[in-house]
Amino acid sequence: MTARSVSRFWEWGRKIVCVGRNYAEHAKELQNAVPAEPVLFLKPPSAYVKEGSPILVPAYSSNLHHEVELGVVIGKGGTAIPRSSAMDHVAGYALCLDMTARDVQEECKAKGLPWTRAKAFDTSCPVSEFVPKERIPDPGNVRLWLKVNDQLRQDCCTSQMIFSIPHLISYISEIITLEEGDLILTGTPKGVSAVREHDELQAGIGDVVTMTFKVARQQ
Ligand code: MG
Repeated sequence: MTARSVSRFWEWGRKIVCVGRNYAEHAKELQNAVPAEPVLFLKPPSAYVKEGSPILVPAYSSNLHHEVELGVVIGKGGTAIPRSSAMDHVAGYALCLDMTARDVQEECKAKGLPWTRAKAFDTSCPVSEFVPKERIPDPGNVRLWLKVNDQLRQDCCTSQMIFSIPHLISYISEIITLEEGDLILTGTPKGVSAVREHDELQAGIGDVVTMTFKVARQQ
């Protein structure tokens, strides 16, 4: 076993657990009910993309949406982690985008099918560099923002989350064992919108970290 650093979590090939509808205003903008418990779905490790590589619009979608989210990187694994000690399992954070083929997701919802084609395609999880835990002392109260071609589209605070980070870690780990290097996407605030080929996306967690991605069409 070679020594590895959680700061390169995206290279580990660990799972990505995503939370849907965790901001009331976003649930409303998509005409969804505010959930009584977290809505979960998964992205495979092949969804990761880092700055310098483009976000690809899947060939089968004509309505790709951005969703800016706070990512939580797990440092210490566990099963059925109590809320009271959940933050001890966090190594740090990452700024993440949950890229969503909205037209495909609407179709899946209408047919009662899983969201895999809408949410789990290659490059559906753009991520920033790793942000050590110490740099965000209060992850439940940080600003998340996203611009498309310099126009502000999403701007909200994580204090608006319905389910807190400790609640999510505890809830998820009751169902799925969390392992070192796993990433949790904690949901998006309102303001999601479509992006097209050649668009430039810029996003940030306050002024702690920023990232920029170009959008390209899948060949
Ligand atoms: Mg999302």
